[in-house]
Amino acid sequence: ESVLYVIATPIGNLEDMTPRALRILESVALIAAEDTRHSGRLLSHFNIKTPMIAVHDHNERQQQQKIIEKLQQGLDIALISDAGTPLISDPGFVLVREVRAAGFNVVPVPGCCAMVAALSAAGVPSDRFAFEGFPPAKSQQRLNFFSGLAAETRTLMFYESPHRILDSLAAVVEAFGADRPIVIARELTKTFETFIAGTAAEVLSKVEADPNQRKGEFVLMVEGAPEIDDSDLDSHASEVLDILLAELS
Ligand code: SAM
Repeated sequence: ESVLYVIATPIGNLEDMTPRALRILESVALIAAEDTRHSGRLLSHFNIKTPMIAVHDHNERQQQQKIIEKLQQGLDIALISDAGTPLISDPGFVLVREVRAAGFNVVPVPGCCAMVAALSAAGVPSDRFAFEGFPPAKSQQRLNFFSGLAAETRTLMFYESPHRILDSLAAVVEAFGADRPIVIARELTKTFETFIAGTAAEVLSKVEADPNQRKGEFVLMVEGAPEIDDSDLDSHASEVLDILLAELS
């Protein structure tokens, strides 16, 4: 039975390409890629000559029909994105859902994901976290978006681009407060890989002070709000109750 393989590719360092990913990319009939020119460079580096078709946000629905037809013909297909794991802030969700609905197997071939790489080395609590993708591009929407997350107790994970990292950090200070611990992970697996940790205000001022720290790709991590201790709440509530009861009597 034919298979759609969802294959992770490197996020910078080509050594992160796995032997299994290479073997499968070589063996499938077709590679569905987010950007065939971009992925063409990766594939030619590894001397893989498998034909490609473009599957991106704007043509995913049309291309899914073509892909399902190929699968019906008994051909295996691989899905890749520009970098990292497909479907993680990348196209592929609609395709994967439809391929599954059509009764075919979808097999993950795991590897890089910037969010997981960042979380694994940042030193922020990793037992519970929420991935929120890219913050909105417009400033008011972004502030509202962050403000809506200010009480979240899980670690919050975001993706951000070099054009918006400063604006996003400023909005983080505003929404989460200057003292909230945050970390930015920049250029993971690449030459200028950098982690900057501190309070939101400290990280913002470091990035403001050094234009080099605005270059490249970012994962932004905001530690969760402190858990509200139930016993504190109870003692506070009973204090209030005591006052009210005293008033009533
Ligand atoms: N699917 C990818 C993954 O698994 O990580 C993410 C794709 S998303 C379109 C691209 C964003 O991922 C970038 O804007 C950045 O926030 C993050 N990213 C990708 N590569 C990165 C790297 N080497 N270092 C830091 N962040 C990276």
